[in-house]
Amino acid sequence: MNPRRALARLSAGTVAYAVRTQGEPELVAGDVCFALAQVPDEAGQLLLMWKWAGHDGCRAELERALLLRVAKRASEERWDNRGRKGLLRRMVALALDEVAGRNRCKGCGGSGKVYRGGDVLDCVHCGGEGAVALSERALACAAGVSKSAWHRHWGERQRGVVLMVERLEGVSLLALKGGLEES
Ligand SMILES: [Zn+2]
Repeated sequence: MNPRRALARLSAGTVAYAVRTQGEPELVAGDVCFALAQVPDEAGQLLLMWKWAGHDGCRAELERALLLRVAKRASEERWDNRGRKGLLRRMVALALDEVAGRNRCKGCGGSGKVYRGGDVLDCVHCGGEGAVALSERALACAAGVSKSAWHRHWGERQRGVVLMVERLEGVSLLALKGGLEES
């Protein structure tokens, strides 16, 4: 089974539905939990739970775990973030929103669809995704960094943080897939 679909089994709604209908899901939550435990990185487990199983309660712990990694990189690469209190934390939050496609499109309100004259069309602003990438200007603003400083340093560092989260997700999904095949 696709690991993303497997994780959806851990969302509260799916479990409640299976109980209500006395349906026997082909893969029970316990199997998915077992597989999740095979993901070696705890931050990776939190990321999967947060993004794919809809456990919003994981977000704070996930942010803390990622912040440690970003802070480590910042010190290794000697990022000068003196006087920029909370910047690394905001970068982590922005990266998570981007990776999870949580920047809702204003054109369609996040549904990806627009209704015109009785037709349902893909939203032209987001191409039907429902989410949009923030512009560099919006990212700088949300991070609390001037446009010029963003251009010089922080934009590239932010892309690095997004890449770090994407890699963590890729590795963790792969490990979960391995765990699912075992169960
Ligand atoms: Zn849209």
